[in-house]
Amino acid sequence: MSDTQQHFRLSIHEARELLRSRQLSSRELTQSCLERIEATEPSVHALITVCAERALAQSDEADKLLSRGEGATLMGIPYIAKDVLCTEGVKTTCGSRILESFVPPYSATVIRRLDAEGAVLLGKANMDEFAMGSSTEHSAFFPTHNPWNLDCVPGGSSGGSAAATASEQGLFALGSDTGGSIRQPAGFCGVVGLKPTYGRVSRFGLVAFGSSLDQIGPFTKDVEDCALVMNAISGQCEHDSTSAPIEVPDFTSFLSEDIRGLKIGVPREYFIDGMDPEVRARIEDAISVLERLGASVDRDVSLPSTQHALAAYYIIAPSEASANLARFDGVKYGFSVDSTSSEMAIANTRGEGFGDEVKRRIMLGTYALSSGYYDAYYLKAQKVRYLLRQEFDQAFARYDILVTPTSPTVAFPLGSKLDDPMQMYLSDVFTLPINIAGIPAITVPSGYVSGLPVGMQLMGNRFREDVLLRAAYAYQKATDWHLQRPRL
Ligand code: GLN
Repeated sequence: MSDTQQHFRLSIHEARELLRSRQLSSRELTQSCLERIEATEPSVHALITVCAERALAQSDEADKLLSRGEGATLMGIPYIAKDVLCTEGVKTTCGSRILESFVPPYSATVIRRLDAEGAVLLGKANMDEFAMGSSTEHSAFFPTHNPWNLDCVPGGSSGGSAAATASEQGLFALGSDTGGSIRQPAGFCGVVGLKPTYGRVSRFGLVAFGSSLDQIGPFTKDVEDCALVMNAISGQCEHDSTSAPIEVPDFTSFLSEDIRGLKIGVPREYFIDGMDPEVRARIEDAISVLERLGASVDRDVSLPSTQHALAAYYIIAPSEASANLARFDGVKYGFSVDSTSSEMAIANTRGEGFGDEVKRRIMLGTYALSSGYYDAYYLKAQKVRYLLRQEFDQAFARYDILVTPTSPTVAFPLGSKLDDPMQMYLSDVFTLPINIAGIPAITVPSGYVSGLPVGMQLMGNRFREDVLLRAAYAYQKATDWHLQRPRL
């Protein structure tokens, strides 16, 4: 492969220097990514839509500004967005038949912020339908394959974003995380993934799944890049009343190799019997690295309500989903089936438009919210939520971060959990308590088991992404897992 074709290998911070010094143009970089997409898509299948012409036009625009010495941090940097983020003029399917040909008339706030920075949208990533799933096999269109082993899943629901970042189709990607959908696939694909604090990033234009849990966040090749993307997408937004009026720091200012004195807790509920012992060993090794760097580690922390988190999540998330998905009735937009009565038209539209997992969630949620069951299910789940938040608050009064594996196993073979929803749900057992509590967590590459990446999850207190980035950066400086790439 010639040099010009290798630009896709760059990180954002490397590309940024070359773009600024005009040693590289955004068009060359964008072209290189588009060629990479062409070369890898036949095996990885990460993308639902590629918008090549739009991307090249955006890159020319960026080059003009760059040549005048202007330009924000992400000017001219090509990226990929999960297909749950509305992109004006570019099809946004949510991995569902029901939105198969939906072209939004507006863009999500995060997309608008990236547009304003001059970042280049290459395409839209595959996902589990409406972000419900852990393997991207619930996409209505096709499954995505893990770049490290094409017979395995990339994780989900943002599996397309994770696989695209790992196979270097774009320099970064955006995903959404309701119960683990950024961190689990980032871990499975060996890239960095951050679920910000609830309220840190505007959800306007993110098609809602569980509105009290959803957050948008970045997939990047390393921690520096994660900080750069967080700088661009964070902050309050007038269109999302849940976005927090909290100042956004320069996240790159926390990238320090010095973590001496950092207090780390290791919660025992995250090292359970059913987990892969080799994953556990990799995480123990990673914790020892943090300890060697000067952090103090307490291995005897307990968050007892964690045992109820999965059950509570599978009440809260489907309940919110059942309400959020009521809007897809085929009347104003999206897929629509005609019938003799409007009731039948709606029933048929939803019957044919939604896949099995989405229907399962709608039924679960409707049941949990129905009169007579509300107290037994929804209310009880909210009580668990309260307890879990309290336990995290208590833990963060003593520790700066909590360290756990991102997932109990590495990526599993395609098809292996499709017939067993419970097994699929268990794959998020370590990630979903974080959404329930609304706190931030990052996953960083921390080794391999049978050639598949292992992710370490660092959790922090609300709006303390700075501590996560600092610890993740120090770990990354002491290891080289993040520099390994799949052979494609
Ligand atoms: N896998 C979990 C679910 O299916 C989480 C999904 C997500 O974070 N969007 O609900």
